[in-house]
Amino acid sequence: MIQLKSIKKSYPSKNGAVEALSGIDLSIRQGEIFGIIGYSGAGKSTLIRLINRLEQPTSGRLIVDGKEISSLSKKELREARKDIGMIFQHFNLLWSRTVKGNISFPLEVAGVKKAERKKRVQELIKLVGLEGRENAYPSQLSGGQKQRVGIARALANNPKVLLCDEATSALDPKTTNSILDLLLNINKKLGLTIVMITHEMHVVKKICHKVAVLDTGKIVEEGNVLDVFQNP
Ligand code: ADP
Ligand code: ADP
Repeated sequence: MIQLKSIKKSYPSKNGAVEALSGIDLSIRQGEIFGIIGYSGAGKSTLIRLINRLEQPTSGRLIVDGKEISSLSKKELREARKDIGMIFQHFNLLWSRTVKGNISFPLEVAGVKKAERKKRVQELIKLVGLEGRENAYPSQLSGGQKQRVGIARALANNPKVLLCDEATSALDPKTTNSILDLLLNINKKLGLTIVMITHEMHVVKKICHKVAVLDTGKIVEEGNVLDVFQNP
């Protein structure tokens, strides 16, 4: 589903260039829950911006769902970006809109008709377990409920990949577990590919099938979660 081949990314700086990613090879299969773990400065955010195609690599090839980024026109790129849904540490909800309004937003942007939107929003609310909270505003929700809205909104247009950027880092342990259970459930039910970018090892251990450990722009370890975390 996602392939990175010899990906490098550098940023210009006063003293030459900063290499945020220095040769990343990664292959994420359809239906996998793939964890990318690393400390601050490892290059996680850079990797997210590349996968999300907000930025181009300096060199190397990035292929998402068979499409190579450098071969797409602006219009094709806009289209292809819909294949990736994203959730965030601080949820990034629209505070002036209700739960329903937040989930409906990407459908409105995509030009989905009102009746269809209503039906889809109801399905999504059910999927993430927010029945009864449709008309609440984000300020009236707990952190876990806000992230459920974030997940529903990210899935509204049926993406092929859900990209999670520190999605549980602002939540307490119990809420974290309930969100991880929901993500597992969605992965099983929809066969959705999930990429979890995090600095929390226990999150990766709980739900990821595979993991890559990122350290100063390089992958220093990669494999099945059980193998990687059971080093002697
Ligand atoms: P992480 O998300 O793991 O903390 P980042 O991808 O943000 O890591 O950063 C990796 C490295 O790239 C860091 O050294 C950071 O300072 C540098 N970097 C990231 N974005 C930029 C940028 N826009 N301009 C210059 N340097 C950057
Ligand atoms: P939590 O404590 O559950 O993480 P918060 O209510 O503190 O949630 O807010 C989560 C995010 O939303 C934060 O990044 C915060 O800066 C932002 N935020 C909070 N209030 C508003 C607001 N009225 N409008 C826009 N963004 C807001």
